[in-house]
Amino acid sequence: MLPTPAYAAMTAKTPIGPYTIERREPGPHDVLIDILYCGICHSDIHQARDEWGGSIFPMVPGHEIVGTVVRMGEEVDKWQLGDIVGVGCFVDSCRECEACQEGEEQFCEPGMSVTYNGYEQDGKTPTYGGYSTRITVHEDYVLRIPPRLPLERVAPLLCAGITTYSPLKRFGAKVGDHVAIVGLGGLGHMGVKIAKAFGATVTVLSHSAGKRAAALALGADHFVVTSEPQAFGEHRKRFDFILDTVSAPHDYNAYLELLKRDRTMVLVGIPDPVPLSAASLVMQRRHLSGSLIGGVRETQEMLDFCAKHGVLADVEVIPIHKVNEAYARVLKSDVRYRFVIDMASLK
Ligand code: NAP
Ligand code: ZN
Ligand code: ZN
Repeated sequence: MLPTPAYAAMTAKTPIGPYTIERREPGPHDVLIDILYCGICHSDIHQARDEWGGSIFPMVPGHEIVGTVVRMGEEVDKWQLGDIVGVGCFVDSCRECEACQEGEEQFCEPGMSVTYNGYEQDGKTPTYGGYSTRITVHEDYVLRIPPRLPLERVAPLLCAGITTYSPLKRFGAKVGDHVAIVGLGGLGHMGVKIAKAFGATVTVLSHSAGKRAAALALGADHFVVTSEPQAFGEHRKRFDFILDTVSAPHDYNAYLELLKRDRTMVLVGIPDPVPLSAASLVMQRRHLSGSLIGGVRETQEMLDFCAKHGVLADVEVIPIHKVNEAYARVLKSDVRYRFVIDMASLK
């Protein structure tokens, strides 16, 4: 085993602090990755604080990982030493179920092995995420990072990028469509950039009036402050597609009213439950759906798409000892737009 410095939450109520984990020596098909950067996703906070229930402690969060292949098993054929690679929200799956066969490993029927706060496919070895100096991963669950990119700005693509790319692509955001992105945080700002790259006209719906200039600078065409009383009346039936990235409870019915007839709103934020009125859907035959990250193949497609279109995250790079401060700022919506940990600060 390889003793590895990390940062962990020991309980749902304690701050994240230094901790040592064991990584496995690479098996025949594993690569050992030296982690360069890891993004901080709001899901890290939900899970470290056990907001979804069932959290496994100690927990080393982090699923937006970029690093270098430094060692590998003798049968690895996809990678070479020195390759710059990524790891996203899962590190393994059963490979046999219908979802895995279709390349939608995130919906693996027996269950994917999430990168942290989960178990390996043996069902008993806990997984630990990217707030650590290295990680061992099966070669099939590793992503290729296109060359010549600023890696700290690539890391957030591994979760925030794929989570917004997948529904925008599936529901076909295109030239001429009016797309609304609800919430301008880590996911939201990637949603704006990716929807623009697909050619859509993009409106940000935000509860933070102070984000207007930044939203327009990111490429949004319009900005609506949802806390203003006239906002929902004025924009009724305006949008072809709404992507809702908000992490806190809010009234879905109000946002559904902003969709045109027959159009779709997709939830990717995962707040506590909120009541849904049937009339919000029935009266204009609207659709409400959800979306969960993306499979390995689609994640690679997203990375290649973002490289081609110059789509990168806007980040604030921090040393790891500032992680608790960063969490507090994310909770205040005070992040432009993703914190990324420079893992050199842990070595
Ligand atoms: P984030 O950076 O904190 O952004 C969330 C945004 O939601 C905030 O910037 C804020 O935008 C808005 N918001 C926050 N509190 C609000 C409130 N009380 N009322 C209205 N709006 C509020 O979080 P993130 O990392 O983008 O993650 C967003 C959510 O997606 C989280 O719940 C996370 O767990 C989930 N997630 C889901 C998937 C998936 O596969 N489905 C993947 C990753 C993350 P404004 O200031 O602009 O209003
Ligand atoms: Zn995430
Ligand atoms: Zn499976």
